[in-house]
Amino acid sequence: MIYVFPLIHALDVDRLEYIQRAAIEVNHFGTITKVEHLKEDENIDGDDVVHAHPNEFLVPGFVDTHSHAPQFSNIGFGFNLELLDWLSQVTFPTESNYQDAQVAQIDFAKVVEATLSVGTTTCSYYSSLHLDATKILAATCHSKGQRALVGKVNMDSHCPDYYKDESPEVSMAQTKEYVDYVRNNLKSAIVHPIITPRFAICCSPELLEQMGEYLKDENLHIQTHLCENKGEIDFTMSLYPNDESYTHIYANRGILSDRTILAHCCHLTNSEMDLIKQYDCGISHCPTSNFNLRSGITDVNQLLTDGITKVGLGSDCSGGYEAGILQSLRDASTASKALSIFHNKPTYLSLENLFYLATLGGARALDLEKQIGNFIVGKQFDALVIDPLTIANKSLIDSSKQSYISPLDRLKRNFERWLFAGTSANLQAVFVDGKNINIK
Ligand SMILES: [Zn+2]
Repeated sequence: MIYVFPLIHALDVDRLEYIQRAAIEVNHFGTITKVEHLKEDENIDGDDVVHAHPNEFLVPGFVDTHSHAPQFSNIGFGFNLELLDWLSQVTFPTESNYQDAQVAQIDFAKVVEATLSVGTTTCSYYSSLHLDATKILAATCHSKGQRALVGKVNMDSHCPDYYKDESPEVSMAQTKEYVDYVRNNLKSAIVHPIITPRFAICCSPELLEQMGEYLKDENLHIQTHLCENKGEIDFTMSLYPNDESYTHIYANRGILSDRTILAHCCHLTNSEMDLIKQYDCGISHCPTSNFNLRSGITDVNQLLTDGITKVGLGSDCSGGYEAGILQSLRDASTASKALSIFHNKPTYLSLENLFYLATLGGARALDLEKQIGNFIVGKQFDALVIDPLTIANKSLIDSSKQSYISPLDRLKRNFERWLFAGTSANLQAVFVDGKNINIK
């Protein structure tokens, strides 16, 4: 197929490319084989050519680097609590329901449909701690065509008896069975397993050590939470008094690698940032959740300035109340402007930075940059077709037709307005791995 569209994508942390007329050629494996810049009067026709409708443009699919599928039934609820109380009073009771595979089957289908319908083409999911539910979530992503990392949560300590792995050995045995299922039964090109220790408080040292041993021999993704909330950090350090910092707890047990995604990171010390840089870990910035649970404000601008660029956005449902990444992008902007005001600093996240975080930065954080994140030849075609002025979205009236605005500036203006004021109504089509996913 050849898609003739205006396109916008991130080439780096602070660099977007706008192409007014591009022809993107995609082969039947869903791989981008050619990207041409067309002149205004240059025509391409044929059965396999798809032309943009007026105003439409193409962007890479959104990458959600952190979300909890079994928490979607709590979206918008429990925000009077801070993290540790929210977990015990709101989250654990809900997640425990996924012991019932039928609940998982019904709910996870809705979760994956909901995230695809707001443009999340790749998602890194925490399932519950249940083996069957986690298999169901992985199989659901595969059958509905969403690119995903899916992990069984590991937790054997400081959690309620009704929602807890029986022992470190059982937790690891089930994790290995799950990894084996995804690799040898599901055999998906787009869904992969990810090792998912909930966070240090909920993992005994024995469990983290056994996990680290397992990871020595396996080239696997890992995800966990880090330095989200001050109360959490204090409690964590009381459990691991001999480790220099929260980040050292993971490093000392073999949990950190260039395939590790660390969510939140609101309160990192300089030595922890050095450690993250040394191991080349990814960071998931979850500003909506950080505000809702009053966890803190991650200084992403500082991370990028310090050379930590494997950073993406996470919806962190249901700490976040929106399934999609547009809300995270807007809250990332607000968070960085709040820091700029409070610290009297002139710098904050630019439009270029924000869109990078939502797409290419997310791909880098998940160690998937070779496959996705922008429209570079050799990557897979994960894309969104956006009509910023669709009639369904009455909030965006076309104010850009004035003669002094060039066509390129008009594209830039429509793109920016969609990012900050658009809705899912602007989404006309979603492609994953070259396939048009039915989202209506
Ligand atoms: Zn989370």
